[in-house]
Amino acid sequence: MHDLIIIGAGAIGSAAARELARYQLDILVLEKESDVGQVTSSANSAIIHSGYDPIPGSEKAVMNVLGNKLYDQMCEELDIDMRKIGSLTIATNDEEVEILRELEERGRKNGVPVEMLDHDQTLAIEPNLTPEVKLALLAPTAGIVNPFELSVALMENAMENGVQLRLNEGVTGLRALDGGGYEVTTNRGVYQARVVVNAAGLHSDEINNLVNPDTKFEIRPRKGEYFVLDHFDPNFIRHTIFTVPSSKGKGILVSPTTHGNYILGPSAEFVERKDDYSTSAETLAQVLATARKLVPTIPMNQVIREFSGLRAVEKSGHFIIEESLPGFVNLVGIQSPGLTSCPAIALEVVKMASNTLKMEKKPDFNPRRRPVVRLNRMTPEEREELVRKDPKFGNIICRCEKISEGEVLDCIHRKCGATTIRGVKRRVRPGMGKCQGGFCQPRIIRILSRELGIPEEDVRMNESGSWILSTERPCERDQ
Ligand SMILES: Cc1cc2nc3c(=O)[nH]c(=O)nc-3n(C[C@H](O)[C@H](O)[C@H](O)COP(=O)(O)OP(=O)(O)OC[C@H]3O[C@@H](n4cnc5c(N)ncnc54)[C@H](O)[C@@H]3O)c2cc1C
Repeated sequence: MHDLIIIGAGAIGSAAARELARYQLDILVLEKESDVGQVTSSANSAIIHSGYDPIPGSEKAVMNVLGNKLYDQMCEELDIDMRKIGSLTIATNDEEVEILRELEERGRKNGVPVEMLDHDQTLAIEPNLTPEVKLALLAPTAGIVNPFELSVALMENAMENGVQLRLNEGVTGLRALDGGGYEVTTNRGVYQARVVVNAAGLHSDEINNLVNPDTKFEIRPRKGEYFVLDHFDPNFIRHTIFTVPSSKGKGILVSPTTHGNYILGPSAEFVERKDDYSTSAETLAQVLATARKLVPTIPMNQVIREFSGLRAVEKSGHFIIEESLPGFVNLVGIQSPGLTSCPAIALEVVKMASNTLKMEKKPDFNPRRRPVVRLNRMTPEEREELVRKDPKFGNIICRCEKISEGEVLDCIHRKCGATTIRGVKRRVRPGMGKCQGGFCQPRIIRILSRELGIPEEDVRMNESGSWILSTERPCERDQ
């Protein structure tokens, strides 16, 4: 019997795994997808919210504010790309000014540093904002993170510290055992654990309902659609710019990303299916119209991609972070600011697990991840030195993002390494640039085939069945 099983390896399950890895426990993570962080944790705005928005005293407020504080140390230890660039929430009319004043008050109650800027002060720091801005709420502790790297880094460090991860294992059954503990059935096997943590995101209601029929949850997916712009001018927008929030969510934002792209979105519409990631011209037109009210000169010729993500909205609208049955921990309805809150939620999981398990610290826990080589952030001299030591860092695989073969190899051979094209793309970015993989994808297929020892036809884009090639093609070999 394992001490603890975590169901789901998004940001929440991965953060919990890493926090629990500090203790002398036998931990297993079961993830139904072929990689970690594949679902909501990779399709969001990637903002480390400051915490001025949630209702003071609510679980969301507490987790958000603590999570934001914990991010600095977590990202430093795990070499996760994160920058506290600050956010500006913009009011352009009297009604919005009123809301902004309420948010300022909420921010103070939540213990979040906030400052009101007038028209001139706002345009002085963000000259491309609408000249109609009347007032802006500056929250300097807001940040941006690389969301793809987040779950990978958390899980890699958890695994370095002894956690086991089983991918492609969807939980289909769960029952309490007489005498304590749980039996967990997947498409591949049956496991037992003294504690089960339900971090199944959009499906966390279904996992709960398998074992806890007295308290049924219901998750409704609420879709958010986005535009992604190429990196064109690093000073076009320097902060995350928000419209004032509404009952539907935090509103539309315009923000730089950690890689110097810009993101516009998200919309907020309930959808029926938990796998509906379609985007629509109509919704995206509304996203653009609202984004242009904030930043009128958004250059749409820089758009390189659209995508959507699904918020796991529980019908109560709250974060449900509780030990619902002895040894059964629910992390349900973790919508925004879930990404921000993940390190704080992980601490709650440790507290709840300690009700059942003896928590003794591992003397040799290593909180640090081996740093990642980021060629495109190095000086020419640093690059030259690296290439001299290992010429694979001189073989550029992705021209748009300037990613070398050395970086691709590293992400395949780490713990929790990439095994698919999307896995490589999300870890080190080949395919994220303007050509969206047109140049680098055949090269990535070849490298994955060689490094994993599988035929090129067996290399997949992502989940099982998503092959790219039907026969091996005679194409140009890597240099
Ligand atoms: C449009 C949008 C914008 C957002 N913006 C922000 C933001 O800017 N800042 C912020 O803080 N938060 C934001 N969020 C919220 C944030 O993305 C989520 O709170 C967070 O990613 C939730 O992580 P998770 O691990 O709970 O869910 P997920 O990432 O969905 O992970 C759950 C995992 O469980 C797995 N799973 C499901 N069922 C099973 C099963 N039966 N067996 C095994 N595994 C299973 C899934 O495959 C998945 O990998 C946003 C969300 C959306 C949708």
